[in-house]
Amino acid sequence: MRAIVVGGGVAGSAAAIALRRIGAGVTVYEAYDDPGGPVGSYVSLAVNGLRALDVLECLTRVQVAGFPVARHRMWSGSGRLLGDVARGRRSEDPLHSVTLMRADLVSELRAEALKSGARIVTGQRLDAASDPRAADADLIVGADGIWSATRRALDPAAPQPSYAGLYSVSGTSGSVPNGLPRDGFNWIFARHGVFIFLPVPDGTVWWTAQVAAHEPPPDPAVIGPAELTRLFSTEARAAAVLGAATAMRAPTPGHILKPVTCRHRDRTVLIGDAAHPVGAGQGASIAMEDAVILARHLAAVAPEAIPQALAAFDRERQPRAGKLAKMDTSNRDAKTAGPVGARMREMIMPHVFSRFYEKATGWLYDFDPGAIPAPGTG
Ligand SMILES: Cc1cc2nc3c(=O)[nH]c(=O)nc-3n(C[C@H](O)[C@H](O)[C@H](O)COP(=O)(O)OP(=O)(O)OC[C@H]3O[C@@H](n4cnc5c(N)ncnc54)[C@H](O)[C@@H]3O)c2cc1C
Repeated sequence: MRAIVVGGGVAGSAAAIALRRIGAGVTVYEAYDDPGGPVGSYVSLAVNGLRALDVLECLTRVQVAGFPVARHRMWSGSGRLLGDVARGRRSEDPLHSVTLMRADLVSELRAEALKSGARIVTGQRLDAASDPRAADADLIVGADGIWSATRRALDPAAPQPSYAGLYSVSGTSGSVPNGLPRDGFNWIFARHGVFIFLPVPDGTVWWTAQVAAHEPPPDPAVIGPAELTRLFSTEARAAAVLGAATAMRAPTPGHILKPVTCRHRDRTVLIGDAAHPVGAGQGASIAMEDAVILARHLAAVAPEAIPQALAAFDRERQPRAGKLAKMDTSNRDAKTAGPVGARMREMIMPHVFSRFYEKATGWLYDFDPGAIPAPGTG
């Protein structure tokens, strides 16, 4: 099987490893040279994503490149603890969620893909609809992210991303301000959105301000440290982290996508954000699950049976991705709740969140993508 993978981000690099495991010849085309591409922030991987990494034999190297995060805490703007749960796992699960820079995750996946014999061509965009380099491929995997051109090639009427009503600004602070937790993924519901801070083992703090705004920032340069400090001035803990900031990245507008109805045709299939951008801190994990399950469906399949295998892959993935997309919508609504919603949250959450969180998310974290059969055994 000769496979072309469009996009060498999380989904594309993971797919390259998985497809090599079933003996396919794989070439990845990636538009950017830098593995960080336009998204220079960190990603948090829940245990379902870590299990996919384990199947890809990349778990240890990703754990080493990142750090474990055991707890997930929700705070009100005034500093009241609203919930404290196991981060990205069931509480009894000994496997802990890992956070690392997206660029480091992509670098580790690409290193494993190269080691397993995939070819990765960086700095080159590929348009699956017309590119001669894709002409004689048996399989085209569209792993080209939320702005996927492969999606448009499959269906010119496919939805386009639209602004989600939130933009993110990430940065680093030199130390943990006094009085703040020294570990965990800490999420503060703020007047203007959500502020997340995450103490790192080296003593620094990674943070993200997710700002609710009807329009994306017209001029990214306007959203400097002074403006962020103004937006989060009523949340003392957020203001303290911002006060210690040593670096800040440009704002990234959040995007949503209406459900994509055409996700595969003939020899072409979409995976990762190209097919279903699920947000909710699960995009990278779902992209890696996709890669493993795609390879499982394609193992020992003759080229003429690829269209049926892609249809079976998509049937297996869609219910899970659809459920997650719904969860993402309610997460986003919580971030833009307004003052009445915020007061309700402060009254109700301390009583229910920690108790019901695991029941509500167990289905997500329990998922096991299954093994990839070795060539000739599928
Ligand atoms: C600020 C931010 C924070 C996030 N935090 C988390 C988190 O904590 N946890 C989590 O699980 N997810 C998180 N996500 C989501 C996660 O990053 C994505 O869901 C995940 O990266 C999807 O992977 P992907 O490979 O499908 O898409 P992408 O990572 O977007 O990769 C697509 C790749 O395709 C390349 N490309 C595009 N078009 C072409 C073309 N025509 N030819 C060649 N190459 C092309 C792009 O350059 C890119 O490298 C976050 C996203 C953002 C923006």
